[in-house]
Amino acid sequence: MTPLQMVDLTTQYKHLRKEIEKAVQDVLRSGKYINGAAVDALAAGLSEYLDVKYVIPCANGTDALQIALMALDLQQEDEIIVPAFTYAATAEAIALLKLTPVLVDVDPLTFNIDVKKVEEVVTPRTRAIVPVHLFGQTADMEPLMQIARKYGLSVIEDNAQSIGSTYTFQDGTKKQAGTIGTIGTLSFFPTKNLGAYGDGGALLTGDEDLAKKIKMIARHGQSQKYMHERIGCNSRLDTLQAAILNVKLPYLNTYNQIRIRTAEEYNAQLKPLSHLLDVPHCAAQSTHVYHQYTVKIKQDRDKVQKHLQEKGVPTMIYYPLPLHHQPAFKYILKKGSNLNESENLCRSVLSLPMHTELDKEQIQYIIDQLRSYE
Ligand SMILES: *Cc1c(COP(=O)(O)O)cnc(C)c1O
Repeated sequence: MTPLQMVDLTTQYKHLRKEIEKAVQDVLRSGKYINGAAVDALAAGLSEYLDVKYVIPCANGTDALQIALMALDLQQEDEIIVPAFTYAATAEAIALLKLTPVLVDVDPLTFNIDVKKVEEVVTPRTRAIVPVHLFGQTADMEPLMQIARKYGLSVIEDNAQSIGSTYTFQDGTKKQAGTIGTIGTLSFFPTKNLGAYGDGGALLTGDEDLAKKIKMIARHGQSQKYMHERIGCNSRLDTLQAAILNVKLPYLNTYNQIRIRTAEEYNAQLKPLSHLLDVPHCAAQSTHVYHQYTVKIKQDRDKVQKHLQEKGVPTMIYYPLPLHHQPAFKYILKKGSNLNESENLCRSVLSLPMHTELDKEQIQYIIDQLRSYE
């Protein structure tokens, strides 16, 4: 059996090698290394795939969050609601702009922001909500958008992890994760479901004025060359990365399908181990594209992880600390209600290997090692 990896990027690359190398060579030969046709083609491709009017590529997913917040023209200390159980980048962008992150607990089943707890932390200073579509499924956007409308709040969807997940509204309408709120953000970090071979990100919006503003902010606040209308930043997607992503985008649905099939195999064989773990819960209103396959361990999580490691099964703990226990954020955070579920998850979650290149034998081996625990 091929040794197990949490994520296997090189095998996927080998399958795409000819296409990727041609795309890279075309860019190298063009002499145009910033912006250009490949970046425009990626924006157009994503716009079609996600069914969203405007796609503005940028340097990475963290920048995308920061630029989205900058486009809302907020004041210092305005409050932004975020889930306590997420990657730190979400709160970091908020803190960098001297805004105040306000934490809300997550749903223990979906790991996404607990919409029922959002309204209780809304104050006159609240300006926006940043739901994170964690691990591959969309947060419960319909009731969240209702709250946002009620209080006049913007919604920035951190969709770094769930590109391709679809959300179904009560009336049957379906929308892609990242295209429901005011602005959506994407990351093309190599391990994400649509990964570049370096950094990359994008912003999504259906609003023409916002799209113009976002573009301006990401290009040093320029309305035209050397005319700086506002303070912006420099956040461009490399042409080389765009060319690579243009090769990979047509495979995204296939890749997500492979992840879903792998998750289904895990689910089928791990569900009976209910004394040891809970398999991931997929909410009815969202599809799951399994950026991570994350179980909740009901026994000593760290012992289970050690057992797997000894058997050659790598695992990861996403995330070991909730945001309010991160030293960097303690000074600025406001805590909403209690954050017990986020704290419990940090003690119990364990992510198993999940990528597009796991074969049957490897999946079975991982399952068998969990079965053999104790
Ligand atoms: C990866 C990630 C980001 C940051 O994306 P980068 O491209 O690494 O800057 C932000 N939020 C979440 C939830 C992520 O998983």
